[in-house]
Amino acid sequence: MKVLLIVTVFSLVGSCATSKYSTKIETLNNNIKINDSTTISRYANTITVPELRKHLYKYASDEFQGRGTGEIGQKKAAEFLKNYYISEDITSPINDSIYFQIIPKSYFLDETKASENVLAFIKGNEKPEEVVIVSAHYDHLGIKDSIIYYGADDDGSGTVALMEIAQAFKLASIEGHRPKRSVLFLHLTAEEIGLEGSRFYTENPIFHLNKTMANLNIDMIGRVDKHHEDINQENYIYLIGADRLSKELHLISEKVNNAFVNLELDYKYNAETDKNHYYSRSDHYNFAQHNIPVIFYFNGVHEDYHKPTDTPDKINYNLLQQRTKLIFATAWQLANRENRLILNENL
Ligand SMILES: [Zn+2]
Repeated sequence: MKVLLIVTVFSLVGSCATSKYSTKIETLNNNIKINDSTTISRYANTITVPELRKHLYKYASDEFQGRGTGEIGQKKAAEFLKNYYISEDITSPINDSIYFQIIPKSYFLDETKASENVLAFIKGNEKPEEVVIVSAHYDHLGIKDSIIYYGADDDGSGTVALMEIAQAFKLASIEGHRPKRSVLFLHLTAEEIGLEGSRFYTENPIFHLNKTMANLNIDMIGRVDKHHEDINQENYIYLIGADRLSKELHLISEKVNNAFVNLELDYKYNAETDKNHYYSRSDHYNFAQHNIPVIFYFNGVHEDYHKPTDTPDKINYNLLQQRTKLIFATAWQLANRENRLILNENL
């Protein structure tokens, strides 16, 4: 129904308004400049294959028992992330040292036990109250019938990407390149049981939602789907949502990609008609519901999706590195831009 209505409006408005609109987009595009290229490249290069691999083999090991929400494995994973941030001297936005945002058992409508989001951040030096959120869920399916679901791609890949992005921002800050805005590294729990961790965060935000510039959400970026295997094009990533609330975000994302990694940005699943409804199937959706521009980074499903065979040996680490660099460079641009993103409704 909505789509039909939009089509009617466009046809009534006619070509004059349409061309005015495209001129606006063109002007928007021309005004986007990629600053600090050399600096960004230097810190993007601290995101390395050996570190991604080392973190992921640990993270998707027996030790964390598939990270089922509220279970021992998830608690161990939360401690692992917290200890990582402490060792990297990256503080939490909750009084510096409280890395967990507790979600009480009562929040869940089923038998799920209490759980926690894990938060770390780099404080901005010009507009510290404004924030760019980079997120990935750190829970997975846990143990079923005594079999561990490792979730190396889902979403171990996003988790270790976040760890490396945070480290790159930290190093830059130490060396005098602290971002203008704050950058929040948000490890969300309870995604697999219905995006509950992100819903809880958006209902109990640490930074005001109206000061939240964008959410870059990472969920499965370490593999190649069948379609791209078939066409022998591994250097891709699906981007979902980038233009829905802010065309400017989409344009920035494209320019960053051209400047740094040159992946094929595949928008197939961004179509409003996508039957898979991926736009509403990971944590960014709860931010989008609050009118916060989002990008969802995703490699598509594969034969090991939600199976015990989603293991770290099957990850393409070079590709994971390139995709992580793209997200880091995009977060950098957003955090350091002069102005907030222009929403489509204000174009
Ligand atoms: Zn996932």
